Amino acid sequence: MNVHESEKIAGLLMQLGLEESTDDTADVVVFNTCCIRDNAERKAIGQIGRFKQLKRENPDAVIAVVGCMTQQDGAGLALRKKFPFVDIVLGTANLDKIGDLVADCLATHKKHVEIDTDPKPPIVEGLPYYRTSGCNAWINIMYGCNNFCTYCVVPYVRGRERSRRKEDIIDEFRRALDQGYKEVTLLGQNVNSYGNDRGDGYGFADLLQDLAKFDGDHRIRFMTNHPKDMDDRVIDIVADSPNICNNIHLPIQSGSDKILRLMNRHYTRDDYLATIDKIRAKMPDCGITTDLMVGFPYEEESDFEDTLDIVRRVQYSNAFTFVYSPRRGTPAATMPQVPEEVSRRRIMALIAEQNAITRKLSDAYVGGVYRVLCEDIVEKNGKKQLCGRTESGRMVTFDGGEELVGTFCDIKITRSRSASLFGTKV
Ligand code: SF4
Repeated sequence: MNVHESEKIAGLLMQLGLEESTDDTADVVVFNTCCIRDNAERKAIGQIGRFKQLKRENPDAVIAVVGCMTQQDGAGLALRKKFPFVDIVLGTANLDKIGDLVADCLATHKKHVEIDTDPKPPIVEGLPYYRTSGCNAWINIMYGCNNFCTYCVVPYVRGRERSRRKEDIIDEFRRALDQGYKEVTLLGQNVNSYGNDRGDGYGFADLLQDLAKFDGDHRIRFMTNHPKDMDDRVIDIVADSPNICNNIHLPIQSGSDKILRLMNRHYTRDDYLATIDKIRAKMPDCGITTDLMVGFPYEEESDFEDTLDIVRRVQYSNAFTFVYSPRRGTPAATMPQVPEEVSRRRIMALIAEQNAITRKLSDAYVGGVYRVLCEDIVEKNGKKQLCGRTESGRMVTFDGGEELVGTFCDIKITRSRSASLFGTKV
């Protein structure tokens, strides 16, 4: 989401005639911040602080801070106080104004703080994007979230769910294909609830079905899903559409019903496992990934064991693992916290469990031939190779010329290492 948002910021700045800079001496620096976890916020604060020197050396430089962090209660003024050299502080709903404000600041040196607190700000269409993700085009289908998981700041800093008009999404999708993008990833905090706010009966399954009708050699991915809203029709459409990847990210967070209740997730472990069974029944080779959190308030050893049990049962091809991070203003931040050393021990055990599964699943790829979208060139020890992903989302490295970037290649997997696969073009 943030990477794509940065593409929007870059597009708006380029409209002013600005160019991308590859070093710290830029005339305009924009920090697109994230506050989903404490360390993301601390990292952003550390990075912003570093630019005090730039401002000293080049007082005409414009420094802007945008994104989730600015949207927290009182954060705009706090940022200006902590970093008086920052020129622009912009909330998530005001991002489309970045071009105008930077232009004004460059011309007048006037400072700006604009943070809109409307929970349902309007969607601004037609903004330019400077896409930076190779042959993949990100397309937002909706913004915000209604779920209020008790650990999460997103509904507070990104507002309530707002779905884009299907016509605007389909049009952007068509343009991305016309421009040669080989993969489109549909984005939303909970893509499964796409359309609920529009009330016209057109939902995520309908959108997927319409996008799957486009001819051509390309792939569609989507993220992220909420297990409570994942419906059978979406699973059927993914299974039946050759251009939608059999790769589903289904964040469970915890395997304990008690913790899921405290998290306000609105599903049980049995509900979740039933959804996994449906996916596997339709798509036995589907790459299923997840998000897992340890150390949520009240998590006991037995709850953590339930999480490990889910990991063993589902056999995720990969998992994003986190230690719970209390976020100011969320209900879970006021609950009794799990001691840090306990969380640390649990996360290490969880990572070890998942790594063993990932390795085992990677080994099973060896000897098979998979269609890989060649995404980029990687350089290691002076040797250039290509890399790309299988339909299931596994990263594969292989030899080949740069002309293969942006094309589909059949790759025979010759060896695996942890989550990575290595192969040769057949
Ligand atoms: S569904 Fe996702 S974005 Fe929404 S509140 Fe829960 S964790 Fe946050």
